[in-house]
Amino acid sequence: MRILIQKFGGTSLSTDHAREHVIRHISRERNNGFAVVVVVSAMGRQGDPYATDTLLQLIRDNGDQLPARERDMLLGCGEIISAAALCSVLAYSGISAVVLTGGQAGILTDEQYGQARIKEIHPEKILSHLHSGKVVIVTGFQGSTVQGDLTTLGRGGSDTSATALGAALRAELVEIYTDVSGILTADPRIVQEAKPLPIVTYAEICNMARQGAKVIHPRAVEIAQQARIPLRVRSTFTEDTGTLVTDSLEMKADLMVKDRHVTGIAHVSGITQISVKAIEGRDDVQLQVFQSMARHRISVDFINVTPSGAIYTVFDKDAKRAVEVLKEGGFAPSAINSCAKVSVIGGGMNGEPGVMARIVEALTERGIPIMQSADSNTTIWVLVREADMAEALRSLHAKFELHR
Ligand code: ADP
Ligand code: ASP
Ligand code: MG
Repeated sequence: MRILIQKFGGTSLSTDHAREHVIRHISRERNNGFAVVVVVSAMGRQGDPYATDTLLQLIRDNGDQLPARERDMLLGCGEIISAAALCSVLAYSGISAVVLTGGQAGILTDEQYGQARIKEIHPEKILSHLHSGKVVIVTGFQGSTVQGDLTTLGRGGSDTSATALGAALRAELVEIYTDVSGILTADPRIVQEAKPLPIVTYAEICNMARQGAKVIHPRAVEIAQQARIPLRVRSTFTEDTGTLVTDSLEMKADLMVKDRHVTGIAHVSGITQISVKAIEGRDDVQLQVFQSMARHRISVDFINVTPSGAIYTVFDKDAKRAVEVLKEGGFAPSAINSCAKVSVIGGGMNGEPGVMARIVEALTERGIPIMQSADSNTTIWVLVREADMAEALRSLHAKFELHR
């Protein structure tokens, strides 16, 4: 049996028109001889009736007091509604399908409600339905504890459901259908010239996803890479083949020929830069600062430690608490809210001279101050004011000629 996983994101399922496209993709691949497992997200985006954010709004108004286990039961409803609605459209089109929740599909997780990790998958039930010729629709984003309690895999987790099922079922390919034409050189909502990348390595896209390119969840890419299953990210609304994610030798040869230094540009907004100066007579500043952040479970990033102090970033939502904690420790921190981390990413930039020079040129030409920077062998990060972020993305995109 040749198995294909097709995952459809929220906007691909939110209207009758969108669902018609979904049916077209499912039918085409059944006609191509595949046994199809469909993974669905909740329908629509924030504001739409059954979207995950809308469900969350139900409890936010009550101060978000719902325990984590019950919160996951609420969140899981979005995918169940979406799966049943799709099943009914499939039935109307003469395609026999069955809906399985994450738990029914055999996805077992740990008990970290809201952020559960998949421990194992028992795919026997899915396989038996596939053998009987049915399309199996699995509610994405969900799993179950061994006790049978519903868990969710973290925001954007339907992608992870898709690749994890792909690995467990030894699928030939996992297709991620969304509202853009594949993985692009930058977020098309900000950079209009962003161009779809026909082929990328797992490492490149995993890196872009970790740096904020929301088109696919980084965990989903890691799983596909470990299982060596190719991924295709493509639009629900066209027949374009989108972006193939693979580590095949042909792909590596192709990249060598093209000599691609920079693959894409990603961004994360809502960041606060915190600076803490060393205090005369105290040699524990560095230790105290980072231990106190860890104790209060505040995640830190972009860390620069020098003998004169420490500069690092936290999410805006944690900034107030971070500053209070530092003041309680006897420090006098300063904080700049509403910053954004812009990342220039490319497996081919390693050892290539001049990449940082071009970044500085691009930003200086537009009068955008760099507040901080850091680099690894595949990424250069700069911190800028959020108000400068869109302009920074566009100028870097142009400087590295990513529209070509
Ligand atoms: P879905 O509901 O299909 O999972 P998401 O909203 O999670 O959709 O992801 C798709 C969105 O990701 C696109 O609409 C696009 O704005 C955004 N995005 C951010 N960076 C990129 C990128 N580099 N390439 C493509 N899309 C991107
Ligand atoms: N519906 C979930 C979310 O909005 C999971 C997903 O879409 O992947 O986070
Ligand atoms: Mg998504």
